[in-house]
Amino acid sequence: MNIEQTIEEHINQIREYYHHLHANPEISFQEQKTAAYIYTQLSAMGMEVHQLPQNAIIGVLPGNSHKKSVGLRAELDALPITEATGMPFASKNAGVMHACGHDLHMTIALGLALILSKKDRSQIGDIVFVFQHAEEKIPGGAGDVLKSSFFQSHKPNVMLALHSFPDLKAGEIGLRGGSYMASGDEIDIIINGPGGHAALPHKTIDTVLVASHVIVGLQQICSRFIPTHIPAVLTFGNIEANSVMNIIPKRVKIEGTFRIMNEEWRSKSLQQIKKLAKGIAESAGAQCTGEIRNGYPSIFNNPEITRQATDALKEIFAAKHIHELPLRMTTDDFGYYAQTIPSLYFRLGVAKTNGECAGLHTPEFMPEFSAVSTGIQSLYTIINKLTE
Ligand SMILES: [Zn+2]
Ligand SMILES: [Zn+2]
Repeated sequence: MNIEQTIEEHINQIREYYHHLHANPEISFQEQKTAAYIYTQLSAMGMEVHQLPQNAIIGVLPGNSHKKSVGLRAELDALPITEATGMPFASKNAGVMHACGHDLHMTIALGLALILSKKDRSQIGDIVFVFQHAEEKIPGGAGDVLKSSFFQSHKPNVMLALHSFPDLKAGEIGLRGGSYMASGDEIDIIINGPGGHAALPHKTIDTVLVASHVIVGLQQICSRFIPTHIPAVLTFGNIEANSVMNIIPKRVKIEGTFRIMNEEWRSKSLQQIKKLAKGIAESAGAQCTGEIRNGYPSIFNNPEITRQATDALKEIFAAKHIHELPLRMTTDDFGYYAQTIPSLYFRLGVAKTNGECAGLHTPEFMPEFSAVSTGIQSLYTIINKLTE
């Protein structure tokens, strides 16, 4: 029996996982019930299961110890969004919704675990199923998993993750070798001055003008400081002066996000941002303070693993359904795994056959259920290929 038929044989159980998980979403760091559900399901498959205090569940399915071990990351958390899909299995938790497809990813991981637990595994290595908490909220759950002694003592040779992707149709897969997604850091810059009358700027320091100079000046980070071959973005999305038309405020805060595809230039750029902001503010007589909250590191897909996976997927799906993805400046805490373990993070199409699909993180997001089968088949195929 091939993998597609095996999935079909278990599809009712797999659909039940999905409906349960979709109906019972929990937000980041509060995924206790979801973790308990995953724990029960994996234990029922006869797996060794370990729970971290922060909710993450790790299940290990032993295979041939001479073959490469493979880890698969799925996320437990949902988002603070009120669902508007109108589905019969819609969220039962008011104001919380699986709008990023994490329920779909958990379903795929559970389905794969169920199928592999019943199969002969002498031709594949150990499979480490990581159901990780808090992907959606800094500092993310990946760090807790990586630091845990259980994960370290079962550390896989290769780490995989897939993510729902409304830009592709169900049945399609997207991959990109090398740099794929950016790091993301949050930047607060505060300009302080004595404050004063708007008509008498010569008697004070105009903090609003200084903040404007800082924003304009920092645009040279991406255009002049970072080498041109490294994609980077610096955007300030908020200016907070809390003043009125005729008062120069004592304090102006600007908030931004910095995204880049290179870890070395990430830290160099953050230092330069601090230095420039301080220099610009001080040259105008103002003071500059601030805070940088480090977000997730960039995702680098191991080129050889990506090539092997792409070749294997083209053998089971028509080549026209396997796409090479462009770079993407969004983030995922899977970057932490990819920094230390050869990894592949790829995209699973979830749109309807006509290409329609509401975006991720919207109240209408509803992936096509058939993507579950594509997801399980893809992972099964990639795991077999990597452990050949
Ligand atoms: Zn998300
Ligand atoms: Zn997500």
